[in-house]
Amino acid sequence: MQGKMTAWNLACMSFVVLVIVEVLLAQSAHHTITEQSKHIPIAYNVDVVVVGGSSAGVAAACEARRSGASVFLISPRPYVGVDICAHQRLWLEPGEEPSSELATAVFGDGRWATPLAVKKAMDEALLRGGVPYLTGCYATEILFDEEGNVAGIIMANRSGRQAVKAKVVIDGSRHAVLTRQTNAAFRGFKPGKKTFQFVVVGGEMQRRENLSGRKLDVTYDSPTTKRGRVVKYPVYQYTVSVDMKDGSPASFAAAEQEIRNLVAGSDMKDCSEVLYFIPDDTVVAESRIDDSWPGANQCDLSAYRPRSVSRLYVLSAYGDVDKEVAEKMLRPLEFMAVGKRIGREAATIAKALPSPGKVEFRGASPGSSSFGIVKEDLTGFRVSKALGMISTGLRPLPVFGQYDVVVVGGGTSGAPAGISAARRGSKTLVIEYLDELGGVGTAGLIGSYWRGNRCGFTQEIDHGIGAQEGWDVIAKSEWLRRELIKNDADIWFCSFGCGAIVDDRRVTGVVVATPQGRGVVLAKTVVDATGNSDIAFYAGAETQFSISSLGVLSVQLAGFPHRNLGDSYNNTCYTMVDDTDVVDVWHLMTSMRIAYGEQQGPQAPYDVGQLVDSRERRRIIGEYTLTTQDILNQRTHPDTISQHKSNFDAAAFPDSAMLLIYDMKGPDFNVDMPYRCLLPKGLDGILVLGLGASAERDAMTLVRMQPDLQNQGYAAGMAAAMAAKLEGRTRKIDIKEVQQQMVREGVLEPRVIYDKDSYPMSKAVIARAVEDVRQLSRQHDQSSSIISESMKALAVIMAHPKRSVPLLREVYEQASVQNERINYAKILAILGDNSSVPTLIAEVDTKTEWDEGYPYTAGRDIGNVFSDLDRLIIALGYSRDPRAMEPVLRKMDILEPTTVLSHYKAVTLALRHLRGMQAIRPLVKLMDKPGFRGHVVTNPVGHEYGAVRLSPRRSFDQLNTAFKEVIIAAALYQCGDYQKMGRMILEQYSQDVNGHFASYAQAILNGK
Ligand SMILES: Cc1cc2nc3c(=O)[nH]c(=O)nc-3n(C[C@H](O)[C@H](O)[C@H](O)COP(=O)(O)OP(=O)(O)OC[C@H]3O[C@@H](n4cnc5c(N)ncnc54)[C@H](O)[C@@H]3O)c2cc1C
Repeated sequence: MQGKMTAWNLACMSFVVLVIVEVLLAQSAHHTITEQSKHIPIAYNVDVVVVGGSSAGVAAACEARRSGASVFLISPRPYVGVDICAHQRLWLEPGEEPSSELATAVFGDGRWATPLAVKKAMDEALLRGGVPYLTGCYATEILFDEEGNVAGIIMANRSGRQAVKAKVVIDGSRHAVLTRQTNAAFRGFKPGKKTFQFVVVGGEMQRRENLSGRKLDVTYDSPTTKRGRVVKYPVYQYTVSVDMKDGSPASFAAAEQEIRNLVAGSDMKDCSEVLYFIPDDTVVAESRIDDSWPGANQCDLSAYRPRSVSRLYVLSAYGDVDKEVAEKMLRPLEFMAVGKRIGREAATIAKALPSPGKVEFRGASPGSSSFGIVKEDLTGFRVSKALGMISTGLRPLPVFGQYDVVVVGGGTSGAPAGISAARRGSKTLVIEYLDELGGVGTAGLIGSYWRGNRCGFTQEIDHGIGAQEGWDVIAKSEWLRRELIKNDADIWFCSFGCGAIVDDRRVTGVVVATPQGRGVVLAKTVVDATGNSDIAFYAGAETQFSISSLGVLSVQLAGFPHRNLGDSYNNTCYTMVDDTDVVDVWHLMTSMRIAYGEQQGPQAPYDVGQLVDSRERRRIIGEYTLTTQDILNQRTHPDTISQHKSNFDAAAFPDSAMLLIYDMKGPDFNVDMPYRCLLPKGLDGILVLGLGASAERDAMTLVRMQPDLQNQGYAAGMAAAMAAKLEGRTRKIDIKEVQQQMVREGVLEPRVIYDKDSYPMSKAVIARAVEDVRQLSRQHDQSSSIISESMKALAVIMAHPKRSVPLLREVYEQASVQNERINYAKILAILGDNSSVPTLIAEVDTKTEWDEGYPYTAGRDIGNVFSDLDRLIIALGYSRDPRAMEPVLRKMDILEPTTVLSHYKAVTLALRHLRGMQAIRPLVKLMDKPGFRGHVVTNPVGHEYGAVRLSPRRSFDQLNTAFKEVIIAAALYQCGDYQKMGRMILEQYSQDVNGHFASYAQAILNGK
């Protein structure tokens, strides 16, 4: 009996133990996942790396450099001077007098500085000091050498993740994320009430329980308006206590939203980007500053050196400084002075040390890997190519949260997606790099609609904020935020989606760099609303950007606006920039801060934007790609998810085959977008919205307007919520259910529920189109009101090439009117049929000179289109007929370096198809003409010691000239090259500061 009991007890105990183990395993599986071994490119190798982008960090970097060290600095925000600008602590207290060069540059002799003045002063200090630096970079891991010494960092940014080798690390990250990965002891986070400060500019003082505020005795002034008025905005500094259970990203994010709920008033014009917070869980350093602040020049720097970890400084509120004392230390003048001393000491230490040899991560103890593998971009950016790689072993990556729907990018399409998913009961998180929602329509200062359908959820937003044509960008961002919170969604600001978790072609989560470190958020459905298809790209989706499937470079112009208090609309269009390239984005923002900051006196702008206003970004290749001809054919689909309205409004040369035959700006078209355009080919668990969805680049110009993308996000949010119930099976949802609900909410027209695919079109329609197209005028059509029947006919033909070609051949043979015959000849050639080549050659040979061509420019009426002769040359190329080569070369022979870009584009488009050795000699002759070569602007952020210089952005003329050089070099290379001339020029351009030129040159070198 006793024996039996024992066995029974044992069995029971084993069961209990098993259950406990299972529970523990299940729990631990949610705390970390395994990051597989990988090779990370090294971007810099320096004496001292400074992390965080604070004014103290800048002072440290400049001083270290002045003391003879090589230095590299990173900031997670789009600028440097984070402690002052992100906290909006732009004022000096009575008695504070700037004395250092940097402090004087920031504050001058005033009581407060504008954000632009701070940012520009920081930029100039670093540039003049010869310190290479990059913005938009999160420090994610600390590196060690083989002896266990600190030896550098890993960073995450728009270009992926890279390593920086360094002898000394100055950790100024907001929550000391690097120092926490060492053996350094911290005082430990104590759950309970924490006190934060937050600054609001404009409006009334908010009075609520638990909120204390003071009105500063400075005002932030708008620049002088045209009517000579200066608006003076009051500034409020609020102090709030919030209960926090731990120091996780989720807890800090929740505290931030709670505080924003309390302080945001209706007439707010600006506010802190992040909470100002003095922690009590500081590092345990070699000594502690406890009683009173002795002053920056007297304080003991050992309070910033973690005990038992050498070669590391904590330059933030996490230094070993008492809370009361830290308040004084963090005042900008004092903080900069501390930074300067630390920089000097760091340089001295670094100079005495050898360069780190092999570097590695620490603590390779893997966690669970049941959620999939970590995928990210590890190709490195161009300055890094020569420095090699570091290898990492298996690593545990913390899991920060688990949601039904995670939306990455809270912009025009993303914020509505989050609201919609949350309204359907999904546990939803929105991850946003900036500190505001609404994307281009708020942070990008495009606070007004252009075309689009103002219905459904867009109408709800507009009613919510009282918008007519335009809106107050701060009010709109705040409305979106409150709507998310009202529906129990979480929002993580200042957090950057930098990777994906993928399990057997299904996206199961996102890797995110937060102010509290890098980790994973698991999701049943991920909504990629970055506008750049960032997450889908990391997950392995095929994408398309400025280089078309034909290998042709074309991208719409972008801008980066200045900002004054109260501004809501500053539409800019002056540059070509690659949003996916950290160096290009850094270069644009820095050069424009300096340029805008040149304006002195009352007209000087208050600030710049935080977001590059790019009209065109990286797009997925989806289950379906919306085409240019779909738009003219008014194609309907069974799975329409969003409806759009606009015209062909591109700030770039077209590259879809139809628009190469005949270009148009045209009137507005209504466009239906199928759900399949949001599904990356071959990937489940993810939807891609907005500018990142699947459409030909010319088609995207009609489906990118804010009213429509807001509605698209809203509909996709519902689809994501439904997919979450099916474990992320995005292709299994009942699209009709989504459509019915969206019809009820006014987002979609009722007919979409019954729509079928309107392709293929009938034989009779195609035959009719072949007849109608004969009238196609040879002028490009810039009319904004009329669309010719022959253009519509062309769209029918382009949508049904196989069935059209035999019919086209017939009418071509019979056509007796020259214009009609040429129309048919061009269409046939573009469709790859060479029967009409003799007609095209004869027509080209009647032109002894180039006709009027067009440059690449912001003005659509004066540029970005092909001439008649250009179109003939392009058609000849598309025919791929060897007879076409000679007439193309005859036209190339009369190109001069000053000839406009459209002719160059036409010739290189043709050569791309024709490729032949006979083109080499004329290409070289052209390249040897005076003034043709030498327009590359190589990377201004050299990793070479002291190699920093900021080249200005190219003017339109310079952009066009460089464009000609790079595309002709590409043509030479593809035709066989001459004495490595093409290769050499492409190699130079692969280092160009412009990301598009760099990636185009590299793609051609790679054989694209
Ligand atoms: C200069 C310009 C002028 C325009 N003019 C008009 C106009 O007058 N009217 C009109 O209706 N439309 C206009 N448009 C078009 C329209 O504004 C955009 O097409 C649209 O706003 C894009 O929406 P989106 O959701 O794709 O991207 P966005 O609105 O840019 O949203 C993307 C969001 O994702 C965030 N993000 C990006 N990457 C990450 C990441 N990895 N992790 C976390 N967050 C990330 C960004 O910070 C941003 O908030 C204009 C566009 C531009 C650029």
